[in-house]
Amino acid sequence: MKSCLVVDDSKVIRKVARHILETMNFEVREAGDGREALDSCLASPPDVVLLDWNMPVMSGMDFLRALGDSGVTQRPKVVFCTTENGMAHIRAAIEAGADEYVMKPFDRETLESKLQIVGIA
Ligand SMILES: [Mg+2]
Repeated sequence: MKSCLVVDDSKVIRKVARHILETMNFEVREAGDGREALDSCLASPPDVVLLDWNMPVMSGMDFLRALGDSGVTQRPKVVFCTTENGMAHIRAAIEAGADEYVMKPFDRETLESKLQIVGIA
């Protein structure tokens, strides 16, 4: 079973993402900010991280940098979720280590295609 860590400060978004991912047979874990996500990845790296950008405590960008610096042996794929469509914003995320991005709100079809692109689904 593939595992996905859903990182978002919105409980509602985590719930929606969890539902979609569970119908795709993913084992789902949740984190409410980048710090929790980092701890979770260091304890046990998931196959993929679905990453919100704007969060308190530690943002998606800071999480990506910290993950890169952590020396985690099995680096998870990272799909970041954004409400902004700007290319500069997306480029910054990719440069920081994201593998793909998905626009919010996303549906199952969109998420599945993004996970296929990163080689997970
Ligand atoms: Mg947020």
